Formats: sequence, C-alpha cells, structure tokens
Amino acid sequence: MDVQEFNHRIMGRIRGLIEGHELIKPGEHIAVALSGGKDSVLTLHALSDLRSDLDFELTAITVDEGIGGYRSEGVMVARENAELLGVELIERSFRDEFNFELDSVTDRFSSPCIPCGVFRRWILNRTAREIGASKIATGHNMDDEIQSFIMSLARGDVRKFSKFGPELQRIHPAMVPRIKPLWSTPESEVRLWAVLNDVKVHLDSCPYSDLSMRSRIRDFLNHLESEKQGVKLRVMESLSRTFLPLSETEGLRECLRCGEPSSGDKCKACEFLELIKS
Ligand code: SF4
Ligand code: ZN
Repeated sequence: MDVQEFNHRIMGRIRGLIEGHELIKPGEHIAVALSGGKDSVLTLHALSDLRSDLDFELTAITVDEGIGGYRSEGVMVARENAELLGVELIERSFRDEFNFELDSVTDRFSSPCIPCGVFRRWILNRTAREIGASKIATGHNMDDEIQSFIMSLARGDVRKFSKFGPELQRIHPAMVPRIKPLWSTPESEVRLWAVLNDVKVHLDSCPYSDLSMRSRIRDFLNHLESEKQGVKLRVMESLSRTFLPLSETEGLRECLRCGEPSSGDKCKACEFLELIKS
C-alpha cells in the first residue's frame, strides 16, 4: 500500500467514525487537546482536514504539566503543528493555574499519573468552556480504549465503564463533552501515519509512564498481539458488541471551591490541591 492509499484509509476511517456517530455537528466549536504526541497531532490534522467540509470551528489547547526534560518538546511540537495548519493554540500550565509543577508533587501520590490526569482534565474543561468550545476532542486511540477498559476491570471501577465509546456525553452543564476521533484507529497505524508523512510529533515517552498500570497492560496486550495478530482488534470488537455503557447514576454537582463538575462537595483537583499545599 502506498502512502496516499494509507492516508486515504486512515482518514476515511476517522471521518466514518465522526459521521457515523455524529460526533461533530455543523456550527460546533471543537477544542483539540494537543499534547504534541502522535495521537493528538493526528487528531488535529484529521479535524483540520474536515473542518470546512463538516463546517465547524477548531481550536487547540495544550497543557504543560511541568515534567522536566519531557513536556517542553511536546509543547514546541504542538506549536509547530498548530501554526502549520492555521489553528489557534491556547497554552496553559499547572504552574500558571495552580502554582506548582508536576515534578514537585509526585512524592505525595502513589503514581504521578493520578494528579497529572486530574489537573489536566480540570484545565482542559475550564479552558474549553471559557473559549465557548462545544466539545473537546482527545487523541485516545483504539489501544488506549482497550487499556482503559481493562484498567477499570482490574480496579473494579464500574463507573468508568461509562467512559467507553467514542463520545462522552455532557452529564453536567459545566462539563464540556468529549469525543475520541481515533477511537477505532490502532496505535500502530497512528505511528505509521506520522512516519510515512514525516509529520513532526513528540515520540518520547513520559519519564513517569513506566510507573503506571496502563504501561503494564499495554505491554501485556502488545505481547499477546505479537504472538497472535489481531487480538487487540478482536477485543475491541467484543467490547463494542457486548458492552452497553452505563448511564451515570450518581449525577454530578458543582465543586463548592472551584465550581467545576464534581461527584462530591469538592472536586478531585481541589482535594489534591489541599493535599499538596498541606
Ligand atoms: Fe502524566 Fe502519567 Fe501521562 Fe506522564 S504518563 S503525562 S505523568 S498521565
Ligand atoms: Zn474544585
């Protein structure tokens, strides 16, 4: 298969998912969560290609968590791609929003990924709402989705099952819904797309990634896949066919401190901020 054919296939699959699930409607304003990694960069390129055809507005948001020797390269790549495609990029950081860097608080948590994800989602949601975005597009690919599902299973965290699928509906007025345009695209194809098209992406791994449960599940699935090709695709097909997302039963309210959506009086970000500042 030549490059053009490959691009046609991968972009066609992304477009098919967006149209098939009506992830984007005409007139919407989509904010891409752009880390500079290959997945978010492909998401940006794919949505940029589609924006005039499907008639929507596009902005990118990048969040600098404060991970020394790693994140600054990603931010530079995000800037380059946004500029290349003529997409406005909004830059935010843990330092500006919360007055700390992730590196300085990792000893307070069992894994750096826990505060990283909570504060990043908080910033993305707040920023997307501030700029009037109707949805946030993330770069979650098919492998990420399977890993997340298995992590929820391993933790017995049934509520997280409701996050399975290409779209997370709005369950609180202050929550900006999420879409995952790469939901049905395997990670290996995203990597190949970046290499074949010589697209500037940040390929380094986060220095904390080996500490996460996700990385062990990813290695396990990759090992299975190397022994039996197609395992991941079949897992995904099984999940899609048999799994009915649970509707959120608890309902969200607003955090009494910051006003962001929360399942309790205080959201996770505010809870963690108290822990960090204590
Ligand atoms: Fe954050 Fe963990 Fe991802 Fe690193 S691997 S960017 S710490 S979530
Ligand atoms: Zn809060």
